Amino acid sequence: MKPACQHRSSPSCTAPSSQQVADFLAQAEQLCAQRKLRFTALRRTVLELVCRYDQPVGAYTLLDDLRETGRSAAPPTVYRALNFLQQQGLVHRLANDNTYIACAHPQQQHAGLFLVCRACGGAREVHTRQVDNAIARQARPYDFQVEKAAVEVIGLCAACAGDKGDG
Ligand SMILES: [Zn+2]
Ligand SMILES: [Zn+2]
Repeated sequence: MKPACQHRSSPSCTAPSSQQVADFLAQAEQLCAQRKLRFTALRRTVLELVCRYDQPVGAYTLLDDLRETGRSAAPPTVYRALNFLQQQGLVHRLANDNTYIACAHPQQQHAGLFLVCRACGGAREVHTRQVDNAIARQARPYDFQVEKAAVEVIGLCAACAGDKGDG
């Protein structure tokens, strides 16, 4: 059984599935309005594209997708949009392979804990306050103020570990 989510977000506490994309975009729009930031058409489109993937997606894939939607976009444009989304907590960037994954609970500032499968590249965000708490505790003796943190755990997902066992 999956551990209960400690966050009170309306969409499920995993990356938003395709059914939840509309909800998620509405939530993002609301959040930007609250923060008095512009949720431009480009930012919206990029976020929507990130949500469409079950796996973390790279900027160049998004760029290709954007061009397919008829926009002429240059890499810096996409990176700027991704940066904005990242700053607002709407997406996380995985340092392991420079890919982006949508966050289902952007309302809360939180440390990201990611389980990244080295075989299929799939990643799942695990939502727990314990990571934030542990990091804050470790930083305290150094008088270090934590602003953001991410923990990426590399391994094999259930499906990939199963494949190996069957073979
Ligand atoms: Zn998150
Ligand atoms: Zn896998």
